[in-house]
Amino acid sequence: MLDYTLVKKAEELHGHICPFLILGLRASEIAMQRLGVRKAGVEETIGEEILAIIECNNCFADGVQVATGCTLGNNSLVYLDVGKNAVTLVRRGEWKGVRVYVDSEKIRERYFGREARELFEKVVVRREGSREDSERLHKMWSEIGLSMMNISEEVFKVEEVMVSEIERAPIFESVKCEVCGELTMKTRTRTVNGKTVCLGCLGECEAVVGRGIVPNFKIPLKRK
Ligand SMILES: [Zn+2]
Ligand SMILES: [Zn+2]
Repeated sequence: MLDYTLVKKAEELHGHICPFLILGLRASEIAMQRLGVRKAGVEETIGEEILAIIECNNCFADGVQVATGCTLGNNSLVYLDVGKNAVTLVRRGEWKGVRVYVDSEKIRERYFGREARELFEKVVVRREGSREDSERLHKMWSEIGLSMMNISEEVFKVEEVMVSEIERAPIFESVKCEVCGELTMKTRTRTVNGKTVCLGCLGECEAVVGRGIVPNFKIPLKRK
């Protein structure tokens, strides 16, 4: 049973309430209960003691971050770019985890009415919706999301998994880029003609964008 204050916190972070945000909260809650842990607090986040492993960067991922307290910034969130709505929660040291997966097709069939599905096709997939269509869709999404607050555990696939040990975030030495003069993690610099140059100046790096992790992403910042 999701707490409404948790839903409000998730809305604050995510910007709106939608089905997969709620499913991320609910999947996390199930994983936390199974594992016998609470939301990561001071100790857990400093030591990266509890890890949440997600498999997609979408609404679901924000639900996971709010519910578990494992975030991108505290290095307790591990992002596997495999494109599934699933979260694995694991306690460092034990490495016995609980993975919770949700079948989005099943969800759509059971919880999205015909109108919501058609609107979704029009507004999101074909990008053809009017402003009213998109407002109506968001209202419906929010309602459908809220109706899933107590969605039964049977909808999810819950399994125990062994997790291979994951390293803690290392502290890397910083060095100065000899082109822009900015401090940069040493591992993110290259030596070009004997000079230390950052990836920013070289113009390419790996990036997380909407479609996932992209190698050799052209850095889009243009300086004056
Ligand atoms: Zn969303
Ligand atoms: Zn530079």
